[in-house]
Amino acid sequence: MAEFRVGDISVTRVVELAATGGSKFILPQATPEDVSRIGWLQPHFADERGRLKIAVQTFVIQTPDARILVDTGLGAHKQGRKVPHWNNRADPFLDMLADAGAPADTVDLVINTHLHVDHVGWNTVLEGDQWVPAFRKARYVMGRDDFNYWRDQQEDAEHRAVFDDSVAPIAAAGLADLVGDGDEIAPGVSVVATPGHSIGHMSILLRSKGEELLLGGDVMHHPCQIARPEWSSTADYDQNQSAQTRKALFDRLADAGTPLLGGHFTGAGRGRVRRDGASFRLDIM
Ligand SMILES: [Zn+2]
Repeated sequence: MAEFRVGDISVTRVVELAATGGSKFILPQATPEDVSRIGWLQPHFADERGRLKIAVQTFVIQTPDARILVDTGLGAHKQGRKVPHWNNRADPFLDMLADAGAPADTVDLVINTHLHVDHVGWNTVLEGDQWVPAFRKARYVMGRDDFNYWRDQQEDAEHRAVFDDSVAPIAAAGLADLVGDGDEIAPGVSVVATPGHSIGHMSILLRSKGEELLLGGDVMHHPCQIARPEWSSTADYDQNQSAQTRKALFDRLADAGTPLLGGHFTGAGRGRVRRDGASFRLDIM
């Protein structure tokens, strides 16, 4: 568990799953040889052999006004996932959240940066044979474009399963609020549209007392994409758009000095994006 402060806001990371290695499927260009050449990735984000470190996690955001979760991991008892060990999990994640100061019934807001399998899982829990909201007193905030897209698509069986067990029950319970670029979700918490990984992917900007932090979701899966913004993920909806979004975002963050924390970042996690020749690097804070 790591905690960061942004003015009066605290950010606590709760890790559901952590792994080192296998970049092949998600970032095929990030070979161990090429990752080893990006020296600043070690030790937080890669090991000495150039293998990527990645986490599936939730951020607990405590503002003076609200207790917020950003992304909800893989969930329990879910089916139809392409990665075999993402099915039928039974992690004590809600206990871990409570230990981090966020018992389920005290959560005011849940934000899904996008509606992929590893970001919406704990939106719901199984009660009998029904999927019900895990955070009963919370409003759930989702990107309007993502919601409409995934609601209507029938081609991708995994996404269909994810929508049906982790998103549709939230809407059916009347708890979903759909948002878009620039919307203020809560005081000091606003949406920055960063499309490409998904059609309506959102980053979340935290602001308090002159300090900022951008929660980047899956704008990049791994900090190696800060050095190589053109390395797009096989999971991206539009690989060209995701690369353009990364370059534009890193330019903006480098100019503004706004710290960045990605949805799958490990180790110390957040840092400041700096220009590095024709590209960028992340200076750990
Ligand atoms: Zn992800």
